[in-house]
Amino acid sequence: MTQSRPHASSAAVPTAPASTGDLTGCPWHDVKAKLREVGLRPTRQRMALGWILFAKGDRHVTAEMLYEEANHAKVPVSLATVYNTLHQFTDVGLLRQVAVDGSKAYFDTNNSEHHHFFIEDRNDLMDIPSSDVVVGKAPVPPNGYEIARTDVVVRLRRKKR
Ligand SMILES: [Zn+2]
Repeated sequence: MTQSRPHASSAAVPTAPASTGDLTGCPWHDVKAKLREVGLRPTRQRMALGWILFAKGDRHVTAEMLYEEANHAKVPVSLATVYNTLHQFTDVGLLRQVAVDGSKAYFDTNNSEHHHFFIEDRNDLMDIPSSDVVVGKAPVPPNGYEIARTDVVVRLRRKKR
């Protein structure tokens, strides 16, 4: 019960990925608590992916990015599993999905309401500080509907000199 690594029983025991040298504390237990709180069974794969996702604070990842990080951390998952897990986490509110193009979905570990800059030439998503108001007058929703959330993606490109 005091397991502190994703794969204590496997031969390839991952330590923290090299890129997460700034890990503080043990996020393993936090992930387990997070999953239980939203009613998801803390399976090995969910735990491992959640651990990779949430250990680094607020960030935006695509399924491909997370898949690569999982590979790097020697977590044996398929890209399909990564997709499924990201969508499950989104369904229960652990993540927020930010659609930038039809082809690209970013998942945000910060599930509070905020808006984004999308930097086109870097394919990079940045939070817009909440103090910067970007929504003017809200539109009137059709009969029987209310506004659940407003997502704004402001696309940026480099200035031409
Ligand atoms: Zn964000």
